[in-house]
Amino acid sequence: MILCRRCDRELEICEVTAEWLRGRCAHCDKVYRFAPAVAEELPMPCPKGVSLIEDGACPRLVWRWFAWPALYLVFLCLFWNAVVHYAVWRIYEESGQLFFVWAVPHGWLAIGLIYASLAYLLNRTSIGLTPERLRVSHGPIPWWRDRSLNAGDIVNVRAETTFKGRRGGMNYYIYHVTAVLEDGGEVRLLRIHDRRYAIYFKQQLESWLDLTPDRSRSRAA
Ligand SMILES: [Zn+2]
Repeated sequence: MILCRRCDRELEICEVTAEWLRGRCAHCDKVYRFAPAVAEELPMPCPKGVSLIEDGACPRLVWRWFAWPALYLVFLCLFWNAVVHYAVWRIYEESGQLFFVWAVPHGWLAIGLIYASLAYLLNRTSIGLTPERLRVSHGPIPWWRDRSLNAGDIVNVRAETTFKGRRGGMNYYIYHVTAVLEDGGEVRLLRIHDRRYAIYFKQQLESWLDLTPDRSRSRAA
């Protein structure tokens, strides 16, 4: 818990990035900035679009992918498909040979955009634990990176940050939630654009699997 220095009240976490954590006091409206490592020491509130389903020994997190920026992808998809359909129709009328050369790569891109748009509108990620297995799955639109691990093999869970370059004058990062296994192997469970989600999922998995720092160390040794 971090407290406002003016009012001694708990701050609400309003931004979590690879470079800082910002907390705001709801009482006096003062905003504080902290080092990024502070985020992992705080209990992260449940992020938007995530539901925690407590079911005894089989807890589950469901994360709905939809966010308003997904609509940009839908507009791009509609625009690109309109352009491709118009161009294919025109080129086909003028030259049957050019039709195949032009349409195949652009057509595949159009199909890929439709697929990605549907996934970002409809998909959910489910992270579920049973006494035996930890499962991560994505659907209803089939997506890659489903995972199924023996829960007893997991000795640690990490939220990792990867710098991906600069975009629009800002540093751009990707975040992964990674399981470390007893045999030293590592499995990336989730790839996320928002560090808040990565830390929340890591903390939930640590709690479910009873991976306190002491236990992680003793099992990894
Ligand atoms: Zn305050």
